[in-house]
Formats: sequence, structure tokens, C-alpha cells
Amino acid sequence: MIHNDDLNDQLGENHIGTSARTPLRSDAFDKSDDEKIALIKKDVESILTTLGLDLTDDSLKGTPNRVAKMFVKEIFGGLHPHKKPSSSTFDNKYKYGEMLVEKNITIYSTCEHHLLPIVGRAHVAYISNGTVVGLSKMNRIVDYFAKRPQVQERLTIQIVQELQKVLNTDDVACVIDAKHLCVNSRGIRDIESSTVTAEFGGKFKEDKVRREFLDYIKLDTTF
Ligand SMILES: [Zn+2]
Repeated sequence: MIHNDDLNDQLGENHIGTSARTPLRSDAFDKSDDEKIALIKKDVESILTTLGLDLTDDSLKGTPNRVAKMFVKEIFGGLHPHKKPSSSTFDNKYKYGEMLVEKNITIYSTCEHHLLPIVGRAHVAYISNGTVVGLSKMNRIVDYFAKRPQVQERLTIQIVQELQKVLNTDDVACVIDAKHLCVNSRGIRDIESSTVTAEFGGKFKEDKVRREFLDYIKLDTTF
């Protein structure tokens, strides 16, 4: 008989996600950030103590609190719906119908199977139907969804779905090229490999449009 933990281990090692939605419980935000930090601090203390570390050492003393704050406020800060970037858009009367590409958006995320960093770049594009967003808004949307325990495929889809909603069009695409430290630094230790995921909505499903987007990504923009 295969133990459940073994099955779940295999799912995680292969980085198989199960849904486009972040699996949150309905009581996810019943506790305040400060309450969460206090609880996580104790949990981190427990992990480090179990590992045999001396938490009275000056260097380790502040670690549990520091990690708890980092989890809640920074690397998993994008779990909270209140932190979603506001969706102010503008009318664009002059460049109607052209593709806009925002490339090389830096991604720092966290693999939800190993809680190790995912580092990479996102390239996002849309074809305006008359509505545009500020360029920095695209970076902020990417960053918001990256700041969660993630699966790269889900991150790609969440970015596209959010921009489709904000821009009121299906014509949105996202390509992410990222390194997973759980693959690069442990396990099979493949330093060079990176993972590419893509989601093409609306007109980006058409060959010609998709190729135009991919050609823009390939442009050398080192100035
Ligand atoms: Zn992983």
C-alpha cells in the first residue's frame, strides 16, 4: 500500500498544481497579521529547536520573529485580497488595437511544494480594446500574485486572468521563464535549467499574434 504522504511527496516533487486558484481556506483572514506573526514565530522556534539549534545564540535569537514577519508581510503578503493593486485604467483613444508588451518583469516567488524561491522573468502583453493600464500596474499585478506560495503555471494563469478582468478583454498573454531553487540547489541539482510557462488568451491564441509577441520578447533590449 502506498502511504498518502508518499503520494503527496510525488505530486510536490513533480510540481503538479491542482487548480488556477490559490488553495485558501475560508477562514484564511480571520486572524490579523500581528496574530499570524506571533503564531508563526512560535512555529519557526519549534522547527529550529527540533533541528537542535541553540536559539539563545545571538545570531539566531531574532530569526523566528524575522521569518514570521517576512512570511506574513513580504514573501506571502500577496495572499491577502486587500493588497491587490487597485485597478485604475485609462481610456486610450489613439493607439487602439496595438499590442503592448511589458517584458523582463522580475519575479521573486516561492515554490509551494518546497517553500524555496522561484526567481525569473515575466513577459506580459495585451491588445487594448480601448482601455489601458499604467505600465507599473502590470509589474505590481505580477508581484502581487508572485508573493504567495506558488506553482509557476498557476502564477502565469492568475496574472492573465487578473489583467483580462482589469482591461476588460480576453486578449492578454503571459510567458514566465524562471528558475526554481528546489530544482537548482537540491534534488537533482540542475543549475542551468529553467522552466517556461505560457498562457495565451483571446487573439494571442492565433499563430500570427502569438509569434509577434514572442518576437518582441526575443528583442535584445540591453542598453
Ligand atoms: Zn519546489
